[in-house]
Amino acid sequence: MTNPLFADLPITIFDHMSGLARALGAVNLGQGFPDFGWPEDVLDRAAQAVRAGSNQYAPMRGLPELREAVAAHYRRFQGLELDAGGIIVTSGATEALASALLALIEPGDEVVLFQPLYDAYLPLVRRAGGVPRLVKLAPPDWRITGEALAAAFTTRTRLVVFNNPHNPTSRLFDREELALLAEACLAAGAIALTDEVWEHVVFDGRLFLPLSALPGMAERTVKVGSAGKIFSLTGWKVGWIVAPPALADVVAKAHQFVTYSTAPNLQTAVAYGLSKPPDDLERTTSGFAQARDHLRRGLEGQGFVTLAAEATYFLSIDLPASGIAVDDVVFCERAVHEAGVAAIPVSAFYTEDPVISVVRLCFAKKRETLDEGIERLGRARALFA
Ligand code: PMP
Ligand code: GLN
Repeated sequence: MTNPLFADLPITIFDHMSGLARALGAVNLGQGFPDFGWPEDVLDRAAQAVRAGSNQYAPMRGLPELREAVAAHYRRFQGLELDAGGIIVTSGATEALASALLALIEPGDEVVLFQPLYDAYLPLVRRAGGVPRLVKLAPPDWRITGEALAAAFTTRTRLVVFNNPHNPTSRLFDREELALLAEACLAAGAIALTDEVWEHVVFDGRLFLPLSALPGMAERTVKVGSAGKIFSLTGWKVGWIVAPPALADVVAKAHQFVTYSTAPNLQTAVAYGLSKPPDDLERTTSGFAQARDHLRRGLEGQGFVTLAAEATYFLSIDLPASGIAVDDVVFCERAVHEAGVAAIPVSAFYTEDPVISVVRLCFAKKRETLDEGIERLGRARALFA
């Protein structure tokens, strides 16, 4: 009666954990969203746009002012020369990924993905008829190797889904790893669907390099971005696709029947935000870096061992290294039910042969939220002493 692919899927771990946090009154360090710090002027701009009558369908590919602002933003921050004709505004990165996968894959095409993977990827690839070929990344360094790529890419590879900076490992893949991936794409004639929503949340002076900047990649890369992460406004669900116009034209045909268009008032506000000087973004990122360090110190004070966090909103606990001998799901379920703190088990980002030793925490939170979370994680730890 229903499609088994969806009928058999669990509810996302994010909704599961946030639902439990709400029901139990737990501190929520699970789902990745900030509980402070959104730009007031961007909010004002959205409110003004609503009041000024910007409340009807936007053009299918997005407001011209936002498409131009996205192109100008990447010119300024990443030195990319983009054609606004290849930019499509979507309802968040999630919709961008869905539209791109529907448009770019034919049944039977092989699609390379990296585990741990953002949970939307695999069902969307499968529903589009793609045949997943998985590359497994493992802690503590989560590195991409040439051997792993060689085992996954074949002459049937149509597309690779590549998330950088990476959720949930907090890795910023380096130039060497990007070069290996670009080489594999070029050899296979594959398209790269790059989920770069975390491109601005990069720490300690590291520089984000888009995969499309590597030689030969601009003409085969479909990039996904999101205002949710850039402005700490995850609920707005304003995202975009940046692609060579010929690929964007096809993605637009999927997008027109997935959502058609995205809230125009929010698009106006995001266009305004993207056009601002970089100071606010830099301040926000350094605030996140301080929050990461605060959480790390607090966790160490409770006896936890953490993994490196080069980018994103996330810092992870290494359970065995912390002397905790249960798997990530058991730890997270007991932590939320018995210690009042929600976290995300990283095994939820694997479809086979999961890593079960890592728990992801979101540090994009006020100090009081983090401090309460740290204390409760200490109580969770004591459950397994
Ligand atoms: N991709 C990755 C890697 C993410 O982490 C997220 C959300 N945190 C998304 C996509 C979804 O972004 P959006 O909310 O814009 O749909
Ligand atoms: N990407 C967010 C996270 O990793 C969650 C997004 C969602 O819930 N769909 O926590």
